[in-house]
Amino acid sequence: MRISDLLSAKGRAADGPVFSFEFFPPKTDQGEQSLYRTIEHLRELRPTFVSVTYGAGGTTRDKTVELVCRIKHEIGIEAMAHLTCVGADREEIHAVLKRLHAGGIENVLALRGDPPRDQKEFVRTANGFRYAAELVRFIRDSGFSFTLGGAGYPEGHVECRDRAADLAHLKAKVDAGLDFVITQLFFDNADYFAFVGRARAHGIRVPIIPGIMPITNVAQIERFTSMCGARIPAALQARLNAVRNDEPAVRAVGIEHATAQCQDLLARGAPGIHFYTLNQSPATRAIFQQLRR
Ligand code: FAD
Repeated sequence: MRISDLLSAKGRAADGPVFSFEFFPPKTDQGEQSLYRTIEHLRELRPTFVSVTYGAGGTTRDKTVELVCRIKHEIGIEAMAHLTCVGADREEIHAVLKRLHAGGIENVLALRGDPPRDQKEFVRTANGFRYAAELVRFIRDSGFSFTLGGAGYPEGHVECRDRAADLAHLKAKVDAGLDFVITQLFFDNADYFAFVGRARAHGIRVPIIPGIMPITNVAQIERFTSMCGARIPAALQARLNAVRNDEPAVRAVGIEHATAQCQDLLARGAPGIHFYTLNQSPATRAIFQQLRR
């Protein structure tokens, strides 16, 4: 089922908010077994869809296609494949799209991707794409009928600190054919609502689904936020610092903060929540249980 059909004109699904869980393709067989257990645990929560990220290397890419097909057809949850422009030319990207289409996948998150670790800047592959908007246009022009999502950045993208320019780039990406946007993780809802306000004022009408990552480990979240440019508010950072090496206490702070964020987002009209699960179920489950009380 298409995510665009699940979202009404107002952004929400007819039967309430859209909930989605993001997973990444594991590198080992053990990781894969553990991921399937996580998905089984989260299936009971009846997510609207799940998504699988797209890695930089060839094998994880094959795994993305394999995983979304298995999740959709064997586990029975709607699935969306992420797709990036990193290290691939148009023909290679076209081949992946054909495999997804043949596998019955109807939803794709079209991304540019981050530069590989050994490169400072993103370099376009020969006969490839420089920006996600080009990928979106290519998918539309190639006649594929996927529902297309794209990424949005409430605090601005790390490579473009000029928010107005970043927003103009998002508008171009939406105009190229996006049906909805999922945001980068953020910890202060004011950033999300200000971003949505700026987007609407700029003529961006598609649903903007907030992306939430429950904090479970302080060093890990500091690494992520330094890479993606998200800010941990001072009060939250102070609470985390006080329990830094006490994992259960960190998890409790993370769950409490994310639950309050989700409750406020939904109460103030967000179309749903996209959870960055990091392939773990307990934090997302705990948040869900409180949201459904
Ligand atoms: P773009 O929209 O192309 O933007 C990239 C930068 O270029 C921005 O700074 C933008 O302002 C600028 N820009 C755009 N157009 C122009 C223009 N015409 N001229 C000048 N500058 C321009 N990464 C992965 O590798 N795999 C994944 O599976 C993955 N999943 C993600 C899921 C979500 C929900 C999000 C939010 C991010 C995800 N990412 C993933 C990370 C993403 O690939 C990076 O953030 C990447 O750096 C940018 O991708 P984009 O699609 O937003 O790029």
